[in-house]
Amino acid sequence: MLGLPKADLEAFVGEMGSKPFRARQLMNWLYKRGEGDIAAMTDLAKDFRAELVTRAEVSVPAIVKTQVASDGTRKWLLDGGGGQAYEMVYIPEEDRGTLCISSQVGCALDCSFCSTAQQGFNRNLTTAEIVGQVWLAHKVLGGELGWQVGDNRIITNIVFMGMGEPLANFRNVVPAIRIFLDDLGFDISRRRVTLSTSGIVPQIYKLAEEVNCALAVSLHAPNDDLRSQLVPINRKHNIAELLEACWHYLDEQNGRSVTFEYVMLDGVNDQREHAVELARLLKDKPAKLNLIPFNPFPGTDYRRSPQIAIEKFRDELMQRGLIVTVRKTRGEDIDAACGQLAGQVTDRTIVRLGSKTFGLQVRA
Ligand code: SAH
Repeated sequence: MLGLPKADLEAFVGEMGSKPFRARQLMNWLYKRGEGDIAAMTDLAKDFRAELVTRAEVSVPAIVKTQVASDGTRKWLLDGGGGQAYEMVYIPEEDRGTLCISSQVGCALDCSFCSTAQQGFNRNLTTAEIVGQVWLAHKVLGGELGWQVGDNRIITNIVFMGMGEPLANFRNVVPAIRIFLDDLGFDISRRRVTLSTSGIVPQIYKLAEEVNCALAVSLHAPNDDLRSQLVPINRKHNIAELLEACWHYLDEQNGRSVTFEYVMLDGVNDQREHAVELARLLKDKPAKLNLIPFNPFPGTDYRRSPQIAIEKFRDELMQRGLIVTVRKTRGEDIDAACGQLAGQVTDRTIVRLGSKTFGLQVRA
């Protein structure tokens, strides 16, 4: 049932011969009370409940491993079946709690600085698995802290910045976003649900028509030559096309700005000339820039730009009128930082093969 947004849940109870209000009752149990046991949903008519048990279930991802970092960041490794796993990360802050969720097991996009890319693509997560992550995190954290699922102090923000490319799993991601935003669902404001994409341009146009949420884009380079090396999808959809899609997205949605993510790679994209070019690209545009210190992982040749270089880069951009923030790296001691999620129980040989076949299809 966690895979069904309101309209689908209504259709489902309709098929069972019930009125739409049953769907609202169900959502109340699922999302406000955090009840996963149909038998315990006591205000549903007995007959309806009995039939529901035979036709539906509330299934949530199984936790393989939980890690808590010294800064309070938590990472859960979740069972994806068949020896596969995916990860989600909770980042507590003074005034908010951000849940970073996965949309796929692995990823096919092959960004050269991302650890998830190394394991290749395995499969799309279902809507129920995507929503199930948020449901599960609420349940676990709520249990520890004595809060309810519907208590919006636990998870105030949801970001699709875990494993996978959400726009490559459009079909399952969009209904999940609907449930996050629905006031009968998790009731999170549209500015606090962020989809981060590497830049699958046609899907950005499609997204603009389907849901209303914040958009983040992994830019990482100020020109096509460099971006194509770092983010291979750029060979298919270049920076100019990508930016046009972003501005269209904002127009359609009445949004304020797009956040552009920029990973800071020592000697690769962090020089003064890159800042100058980047400023030219985004000046006077509805854009925010988020600099992400590179998080290393085994086998990578990239190095994180030194702190001083990051600050100089930021200042250079700010002087040119851009709005820039530097992402605070969290959960480093448990490999929970951006780009470090790799679903560690996976069988690399099998995944690698999957990646090769799929990667070729993507580029063709
Ligand atoms: N596929 C989506 C979401 C993935 S990750 C996307 O590409 O946007 C969220 C962010 O972390 C992206 O901006 C991604 O480029 C960045 N990232 C990936 N690997 C990283 C690493 N090793 N260090 C820092 N950031 C990284």
